[in-house]
Amino acid sequence: MLGDVIVYRNLIGGELRPAADGRTLDSVNPATGETWARIPRSGPAEAEAAVAAARAALPRWAAMPALGRARYLRQVADLFTRHADELARLETTDNGRVLRDTLHRDLPGMAFLWQLAAGQVLDAVKGDTVLLGPDALGLTRREPYGVVACVIPWNSPVSTFSAKAAFALAAGNTVVVKPAEQASASVLRLAELLAEVFPPGVLNIVAGLGEEVGEALVGHRGVQKVSLTGSTETALRITRTAGVKPMTFELGGKSPVIVFDDADLDRAVDGVTVNSIYTGNAGQVCVAGSRILIHRPIWAELIQRIAERAGKLVLGEPLDLATEMGPIVSREQYRRVVSYLELAEAEGAERVFGGRYGAAVVEALPGGYWVEPALYTTTDNGLRICQEEIFGPVAVALPFDTEAEAVRLANDSRYGLAAGVWTRDLGRAHRMIRDLEAGTVWVNTHRQMPPGLPFGGVKDSGYGHDAMIEYTREKAAIIQI
Ligand code: NAD
Repeated sequence: MLGDVIVYRNLIGGELRPAADGRTLDSVNPATGETWARIPRSGPAEAEAAVAAARAALPRWAAMPALGRARYLRQVADLFTRHADELARLETTDNGRVLRDTLHRDLPGMAFLWQLAAGQVLDAVKGDTVLLGPDALGLTRREPYGVVACVIPWNSPVSTFSAKAAFALAAGNTVVVKPAEQASASVLRLAELLAEVFPPGVLNIVAGLGEEVGEALVGHRGVQKVSLTGSTETALRITRTAGVKPMTFELGGKSPVIVFDDADLDRAVDGVTVNSIYTGNAGQVCVAGSRILIHRPIWAELIQRIAERAGKLVLGEPLDLATEMGPIVSREQYRRVVSYLELAEAEGAERVFGGRYGAAVVEALPGGYWVEPALYTTTDNGLRICQEEIFGPVAVALPFDTEAEAVRLANDSRYGLAAGVWTRDLGRAHRMIRDLEAGTVWVNTHRQMPPGLPFGGVKDSGYGHDAMIEYTREKAAIIQI
């Protein structure tokens, strides 16, 4: 604590430490614009120390029987249960994601996820036997990569941290995590809790800027695998810095939500507004349904009903459980979203609702980074607002006449993270699942990512996904008997 400001530290080699040169970054509460915490501004020295600690811890951790590692993971699951309320409030204060999501949706899933990883540890040590002939046997062995660097974004820090670290650790790797500069507090609080759980060096957490500590970490020769959740642009930079290391990339999206005229519109309206784009994290969600494709016979009705529902959304203090939509995470991201509102007008898209931003949107919290939910319409999917990831509560709707046209519009994107389909026609649902270029297709639902199913993208949305297998490599052995 420094006055009312909480000061967080890195976790390196089992110790909580500030950056060696004492530099910090401010953590700003996006609902108020006020600094409420400080995080270390780490650099190459901290990346070096964290990788050295992870390397030193690797031999014992990797050699530990898998069920021994599972015992540690279960302790983490218990921690998540005991500290769910505290961690949810910290995360909401830090990034503005509403408490009804962090507390009721994200945190309850975390204990389960660490339990799941604990239950799957044997998958990391399973191999195949191949009879190559009467006197020859082939074997495969799964081995951990070594030191894994996990680089995570600001929109769901605890969830993204867990999805990576739980499986990487279960598989016998040691880990260095780099949370995002805009929202590191919940992960750095976890560092304090996890310092008591893992042997020193097994899990390290270093906060700071992507171009400083992030680059030094992913480019380090002692790191054998990089897992990034972030933007496509960062992934491109990382491939240049990290060289030929294996990567898992979970990147951006411009996900289509396709509503057919046979859909249950009562459910689709909520699916499009509440679940898909506006609430939760004010559109700052990788799978946000930011392109709404509407079957022409229901175009006018659906647009009107989305507008009515969006008009009732409760914006404001994210810590209030009644609040459905919070602020934009940072001043920089706020300016970016506002620039897209201006671009939408300049490109000639038609505004249905929204477009206001700034203090007037939530008068009680004038210092916050507020953007009203907005919807534009167009018939030109080539517009930049249809092609670029805005990462805010801004959607664009386009009409279509046939199933084939819906597929063509949906797939006309550099991204392929997720897609939503609203229909009562089972055959159509299956055709869409087959034809849409996306890592996940939701039918009559949105934004569900249950553990146990893969989650990843195609095209510029990345490849690979956070699962045990991604954190192991396979070795072949041939034995002549
Ligand atoms: P970002 O790419 O700017 O940052 C992500 C992380 O990468 C941060 O920790 C950042 O510090 C780090 N970083 C930045 N430059 C780096 C570099 N040169 N070397 C190493 N690390 C570097 O993304 P963001 O703004 O934090 O998050 C938003 C993006 O993340 C959106 O594109 C969103 O779609 C995507 N995202 C994807 C998923 C998914 O699962 N597919 C989930 C959440 C967010």
